[in-house]
Amino acid sequence: MKKRRHTRPQRPYDKIQQDRLARGEKKAARAEHLLATSELGPKQTGQVVAHYGANMEVEDEQGRLHHCLTRRNLPRLVCGDMVIWQATGENTGIIVEQQARRTLLSRPDYNTQLRPVAANIDQMLVVTASRPGFDEDLVNRYLIAAHLTEITPVIVVNKVDLLSAEELQRVQSHLNIYTELDYRIIYASTQQRHGLDELYQQVHNRTSIFVGQSGVGKSSLIKTLIPDLDIRIGALSQATGLGKHTTTVTVLYRLRDGGSIIDSPGVREFGLGHVSQQRIAQGFIEFQLYMGHCKFNDCTHHAEPDCAVREAVEHGAIDRRRYESYLRIVKSLGRP
Ligand code: GDP
Ligand code: ZN
Repeated sequence: MKKRRHTRPQRPYDKIQQDRLARGEKKAARAEHLLATSELGPKQTGQVVAHYGANMEVEDEQGRLHHCLTRRNLPRLVCGDMVIWQATGENTGIIVEQQARRTLLSRPDYNTQLRPVAANIDQMLVVTASRPGFDEDLVNRYLIAAHLTEITPVIVVNKVDLLSAEELQRVQSHLNIYTELDYRIIYASTQQRHGLDELYQQVHNRTSIFVGQSGVGKSSLIKTLIPDLDIRIGALSQATGLGKHTTTVTVLYRLRDGGSIIDSPGVREFGLGHVSQQRIAQGFIEFQLYMGHCKFNDCTHHAEPDCAVREAVEHGAIDRRRYESYLRIVKSLGRP
């Protein structure tokens, strides 16, 4: 028998997809009906700040929420999208246009197809911590993803309170290669309130997401940046009619003096998915200087003769730790 690549059975998933599409179609039909029959408010700009199924919460320019349906002819909208919408009632409306996106973050779904999850993100805070452990390959994966989506990454080393002065120094010198590559690093502790001003400056006036392994302190960091987070979640769950603990909602939270944070479980731990070996190599930004000089055009920088990347490693121009991480990532994704 031919080996199946995916363990998840296809049919039930397709069924879920069909149901989802059918629900989306019903909502779209309702939107068209409302457009044809309601007294519509003027066109206004807004931003999608929560997204669940075919439902959206759109925030208007005064910060008020409107429960919106979407016109049928629009592309798939995600949290963070800027839109044009029209009111159909006091707290309800219809999204009639989608505006151009600065960036789009996608993640692989069950079928390993890419699914858009959030738009207009400026920066990705890649969180790591000595507990559960500093995972350099994972950090590099996020740096690759950030590079490919043109979202600026910032490395956050959280839980520095768990380190002695000596250990902290060791971590800092270990991470020096990232500083030399111009990645910004912020050392933080939510427990000892260390580095939080610096973190606040970094997220101020930008749209950010926090990514990283479970347990590194992403929720704790978000909570320190948005002290009334629980109240906001309460308000949103009231507006949406969904429970507070719903796990599928992607939400955009505003910071008090400008900027926002987009959060959802799917955004926090997204994977690299279908990324080619070439694109992974591009994500190691220091390889770029050498990649065009390999003997073979399609060099994988692994065992080929006259590989400029490998030579740069031998001469110390590319850090060996990063190169070895590149090899492991390529291997783990099933590439040669
Ligand atoms: P997430 O899974 O990345 O969202 O991580 P959480 O924010 O839920 O934090 C995981 C655990 O780490 C919790 O028990 C937090 O109390 C703890 N934690 C978070 N920040 C710090 C920190 O700065 N120092 C220490 N020692 N523990 C922290
Ligand atoms: Zn090469």
